[in-house]
Amino acid sequence: MRDGSRAVWAGLPPVSQGEPFLPGPVLASVYGFRGDVGTSPYTYGRYHNPTWTNFERALGDLEGGHTVVFSSGLAAVTAVLGVVLQPDGKRNVVVMPSDGYYGARALAEGFFGSRGIEVRKAPTAGDAQGKLLDGATLLWIETPTNPGLDVCDIRALAEEAHAKGALVIVDNSSSTALGQRPLELGADLVVSSDSKSLTGHSDLILGHVTTKEEGWAKKMQEFRSQQGAVPGPLEVWLAHRSIATLDLRLERQCATALEVAKALKGRREVKYVRYPGLAEDPSHQVAAKQMIRYGQIVSFVLADATAADRFLNSCKLVVTATSFGGVHTTAERRSRWGGDAVAPGFIRFSTGCEDTADIVDDVLQALDAVSR
Ligand SMILES: *Cc1c(COP(=O)(O)O)cnc(C)c1O
Repeated sequence: MRDGSRAVWAGLPPVSQGEPFLPGPVLASVYGFRGDVGTSPYTYGRYHNPTWTNFERALGDLEGGHTVVFSSGLAAVTAVLGVVLQPDGKRNVVVMPSDGYYGARALAEGFFGSRGIEVRKAPTAGDAQGKLLDGATLLWIETPTNPGLDVCDIRALAEEAHAKGALVIVDNSSSTALGQRPLELGADLVVSSDSKSLTGHSDLILGHVTTKEEGWAKKMQEFRSQQGAVPGPLEVWLAHRSIATLDLRLERQCATALEVAKALKGRREVKYVRYPGLAEDPSHQVAAKQMIRYGQIVSFVLADATAADRFLNSCKLVVTATSFGGVHTTAERRSRWGGDAVAPGFIRFSTGCEDTADIVDDVLQALDAVSR
C-alpha cells in the first residue's frame, strides 16, 4: 500500500459490524481490574489508554517502529534525554544543532546542562555536527532546521555517530513520516511535535517518540508513567482522526510552498529565499536524497524588521501567527522571539491548504505594499 492509503487506515482495527471505523476516545482514569498486575492490558489512566494504543499503532506503522505518545513535543524530547542520558559513571555528551528548535536546545543546556551533561553545538549545514562526535552519547539531528531550513545528511551522520558509539535521534516535526523517514535512513529514534504538521489543525498540543528498538520504547513508556507527562485521550483521538488527511494536506501544502518560494525568488524586495525544494537551494541536493517531500516551510528575508512587519500586516489571507504545519497559512517575523540567530527581516512562512493561487497572489500583493 502507498503512503496515502496507509495514512487513511493507519492504526484502525478491522471494521466490525455496527462499530465506528475509529473507536471513540476512551475517557478513563481507572478500568475494571481484578487479579494480579500484568493480567489486564488497562488498569490506570497514567499507565495506558486504548486511544493511545490505536494512535501509537498508526504512527508506528507509518514510521516503521514502536511509538510512544506524549503530552507535547517537548515532553517527548524530555523523555528521550531523560532515558538515553543515564549517569552510568560516565560523562554524557549531547551533540546538537546550533540552529535547531530553540526549545530543545534550551532544555538540553538548561535543565540537563545544569545536571552535568555536556552539550556541544554546531551548525547543521555541511554536516558540521559530525566533527564533534568523539565521546558523544547522543547525536541530535533536526533536518531541515527550524527556521533556517539547512539540511544535513542523516545517513552519513548516523554512520559516523554509530561508529563512535553514539545514538542518533532525529526531530522530524516538520516533515512527518510522509515527508521523511529517519529510521529508514539509520536513526535510532525519531521525536516529533505533533502539535504542528502531523495533526495540522492548530487545535492541540501533542508529541511522540518512535524507535526501532522495543527496549527503548518500553523505557519511554516507563518514563512517561513515572514522570507523568501523559496526553489527554481526546487530543490523541483528534490526532488520530487527523492522520487520515495527512497525505492530502502535505500534498497541497508542499505544492504551494514551492510556488511561493518561486514567486519570492523573482522579487527585488526579497534579499534571499530558502526552500529545500528549489533546485538552486543550498539544501536541495541532500534533501533530494533523503526527503519524500520538501515541506511546507519557506524562509525569506526582507530589508529589515519594518519591511517584514509591513509585509505581514499587508497580507489579507496569510495570518500572522507562530508555529507551522497547519491548514491555515501563517507567517511571522521570527526575530520577535529572540532565541534564533536570524536577520531582523527574517520571515518564516508556513503554507496551509488554501488554494495555491490565492496564497501566491496574497504574497505578491503584500510585497507590492512593502515597496510602495
Ligand atoms: C514545536 C517544536 C517542538 C516542541 O513541540 P511542542 O509540541 O510545542 O512541545 C520540538 N521540535 C520542533 C522542531 C518543533 O517545531
